[in-house]
Amino acid sequence: MDKISASLETIIAKVGDAATKSGRNPSDIQIVAASKTRSIETLQAAFSTGKLTAFGENRVQEFLSKYSPALPWDFIGQLQTNKVKYLIGKVRLIHSVDRNRLAAEINRLAQKNGLVQKVLVEINSGAEENKGGLPISEAKAFAHSLAEFPNLELKGIMAVAPLNASKNKLHYLFRSVYEVYQSLQEFLPNVDTLSMGMSNDFETAIECGSNLVRLGRILFDSK
Ligand SMILES: *Cc1c(COP(=O)(O)O)cnc(C)c1O
Repeated sequence: MDKISASLETIIAKVGDAATKSGRNPSDIQIVAASKTRSIETLQAAFSTGKLTAFGENRVQEFLSKYSPALPWDFIGQLQTNKVKYLIGKVRLIHSVDRNRLAAEINRLAQKNGLVQKVLVEINSGAEENKGGLPISEAKAFAHSLAEFPNLELKGIMAVAPLNASKNKLHYLFRSVYEVYQSLQEFLPNVDTLSMGMSNDFETAIECGSNLVRLGRILFDSK
């Protein structure tokens, strides 16, 4: 077994343990590999393990340089409206919808291409200035407003936590995001994805209800 599959197996086991601890099935948690800066060869090797749901890229240019229709791709980074055209038809899920103009452009291009684009609404849970995403207080109303876009399917929420939050704070923020997610589920039957948790905090995120983790360093920088 090469290095990537060895660390993948370890991480999958940890994800599974976290799921079981919170009374859920390990197979209910999607693992998206955050693949920025990793080579396409590395990604192909990782994908061949059969354990990854998709690769999440966060820069359009880098995504295009790696793109192959043989792999499933998500877009997880901040997205400029004028770059949406490079993603439509190529990505499974856009995690970072946080403003009306962006949603309108995704809808317009999806319509033009005869498809429905799956998206998540991004919450900036720590209200950090340099990050994308909506304040948690605005997320619910924004999510409901997406109903005006027929070629856009809202699948749920993506949240990024502040880097240096204490475990208690993290727990509080993740639970608050989960509550928004749950309240959306009451009205929107297609909402089934809560993208929350990275290398540093995926166990806490799963404990708080996440069912999609975005893992970079912990998957690829094996010791
Ligand atoms: C890089 C990245 C991740 C993964 O971060 P790690 O700490 O390497 O696990 C997750 N989400 C987004 C949006 C990222 O840009």
